[in-house]
Amino acid sequence: MYGSVDLMGYRISASRCLAFCLGITFIMGCYLASLPIQSEKQALPKPIIQQISSKVPNKKRLAILVPFRDRFEELLEFVPHMYGFLNKQNIPFHIFVVQQKDSNRFNRASLINVGFLYTRNDYDYIAMHDVDLLPVNDDLKYDYPASGPFHISSPQTHPKYHYETFIGGILLVKREDYELVDGMSNNYWGWGLEDDEFYVRLKDARLKVTRPANITTGPENTFRHIHDKTYRRRDMRKCFNQREVTRRRDRLTGLHNVQYKLWSTHTVTIDELPITVLNVELLCDKAATPWCQCPEPVKVKKP
Ligand code: UDP
Ligand code: MN
Repeated sequence: MYGSVDLMGYRISASRCLAFCLGITFIMGCYLASLPIQSEKQALPKPIIQQISSKVPNKKRLAILVPFRDRFEELLEFVPHMYGFLNKQNIPFHIFVVQQKDSNRFNRASLINVGFLYTRNDYDYIAMHDVDLLPVNDDLKYDYPASGPFHISSPQTHPKYHYETFIGGILLVKREDYELVDGMSNNYWGWGLEDDEFYVRLKDARLKVTRPANITTGPENTFRHIHDKTYRRRDMRKCFNQREVTRRRDRLTGLHNVQYKLWSTHTVTIDELPITVLNVELLCDKAATPWCQCPEPVKVKKP
């Protein structure tokens, strides 16, 4: 009798122990699954590096950083177009779509900072590249910008922006230059001005922006801008003290303190052409930049 009770006692404690261990494993598994990929710099999957290097060994590598949210139609055209365009120039490149997955307003500059941190170990220069701006003149060269930032979509040729200090759209920057100016400001939620602030950073660092020479096409036929202003409305709202703060040069934020979580990375192909999608949650410090979410205007009900 005693023996069998002992045996049962042993069995009971063993099965409890098993249940306990399974429980702990389950809880740990849930916890780990809920964690984002560490925000620290990560090495790229090797196959991509090998593929681009084997194309043109010893040439500088270009990371095309595309700040992105809700522009899938444009992306379907962008990827095959860029492959066709850059392969003609023998540029070793890879496209990184940096997708903002949070409920804050779009922040193009912070997404570029995140893309830079992700690629800086494996690439020599970046192109900050709008997804809806397709170069169509083969004289626009995406070579390594050894002597300073190179603005591909110049005010003389951009379909929409023609002021002299404009550097938005498509800009090539080598790694060292981007680091020198601490990347872009993180204060720009919503549309506009982040590129103008970046211009001042470059200027303060005495980096001279150059542009393609001897381009014979103009604003109508150098790029295709796939942008319908009613279908893809620009978020021009200004709230809190956004207008005032974003007009000034930002000396506090940049590459060194962009706050984000990288939730996942995906290798995706479009027409069998590989790209990498980074799923990024941008974190907003509402005390510093409350305009990362503008309150909806209160609708007054008619009686
Ligand atoms: N963008 C995006 N989703 C948005 C807003 C902007 O993906 O909701 C990206 C996209 O790459 C776009 C770029 O940011 O090309 C610049 O925005 P937009 O085209 O509105 O600016 P524009 O230069 O046409 O004034
Ligand atoms: Mn556009």
